[in-house]
Amino acid sequence: DALGPTLCIGEILAEIVATTAGEGFLDPVPLIGPYPSGAPAIFVDQAGRIGGAAAMVGSVGNDDFGRANIARLKGDGVDVSGIRTDPVLPTGTAFVRYRPDGARDFVFNMWTSAAGALAWDDRVEPVCARAGHLHVMGTLLGHQSIWEMTERAAAMIKARGGTISLDPNMRKELRGDGETGRRFARMVGMADLLLPSGDELYLAADLPVEAGEEAALERLFQSGVKEVAIKRGADGATCALADGSRTHSPAFAVTEMDPTGAGDCFGGAYVACRRLGMTPSQALTYANAAGARNVTFRGPMEGAGTRDELDQFISETKRLTRCP
Ligand code: ATP
Ligand code: MG
Repeated sequence: DALGPTLCIGEILAEIVATTAGEGFLDPVPLIGPYPSGAPAIFVDQAGRIGGAAAMVGSVGNDDFGRANIARLKGDGVDVSGIRTDPVLPTGTAFVRYRPDGARDFVFNMWTSAAGALAWDDRVEPVCARAGHLHVMGTLLGHQSIWEMTERAAAMIKARGGTISLDPNMRKELRGDGETGRRFARMVGMADLLLPSGDELYLAADLPVEAGEEAALERLFQSGVKEVAIKRGADGATCALADGSRTHSPAFAVTEMDPTGAGDCFGGAYVACRRLGMTPSQALTYANAAGARNVTFRGPMEGAGTRDELDQFISETKRLTRCP
């Protein structure tokens, strides 16, 4: 990370989780929280915790939800100087309840909270000026002013020789949506590293799933992407490089307690490890461990691991043999 920290821009939220499975929130249910949350915040927290230089640009309210988030990130080594505190709007929230089949019901107050008031200001400029890498979450592509910030930060970081990663984090319903689709294509065009899961690989390559994984990868490498880390849930992950190398890494066998945040912890660990000079194989092992460890904790970033915690997790956890 000689060039500077890994930066993430986006929502910081407090998450409140129903302790019982069931259908939504139409009746009173027991809840637990607040937990620090927000996909970009989870990513950056894991990157900082594992020992990579990391920085966050976001917006919280002048309330305990905001203070708890800032304290967590700071405690995990993240540069929080780019987080603004809104004088009026409260910190964003996400209420989540799992259904028995593992699906989730959410009540979000995100872009209507302090998170939505994020804007380029004199806190953001210096953080972007010293960052060496920008990680972009696809969920931000639907937000006009945050998209503009992200594009500006990406251009700045690229211009100083930095790199960009993109987690599409996109529901397939977004496919074909005019403006968001164009932004997505633009960000894929700027990205050095992609971290897709499910059919996001095909969304990024703009090919149907039937085209197959190799054709999608080939298309992405032709458009300038250098590395793709494919997340496969309990089937582990694969790193594909433009030189044709493919590295598979099996997942760890865990009992899932709360799946939220697995993909973000995976990403934070993967990017940090690669930027620390690890090989794809080493980075995949830590990233799989970070994702797996996190799902064994209730709360979206409670299981983000330090290097020591992940080393211990790796040494004492069986690996699943399922592999693509
Ligand atoms: P999210 O649901 O957070 O958006 P994602 O779809 O981006 O996640 P996943 O593939 O679900 O990404 O999870 C990321 C990584 O975390 C996986 O590649 C795997 O290594 C690990 N992981 C996730 N769930 C499990 C699980 N149930 N068992 C073992 N490992 C898991
Ligand atoms: Mg995801």
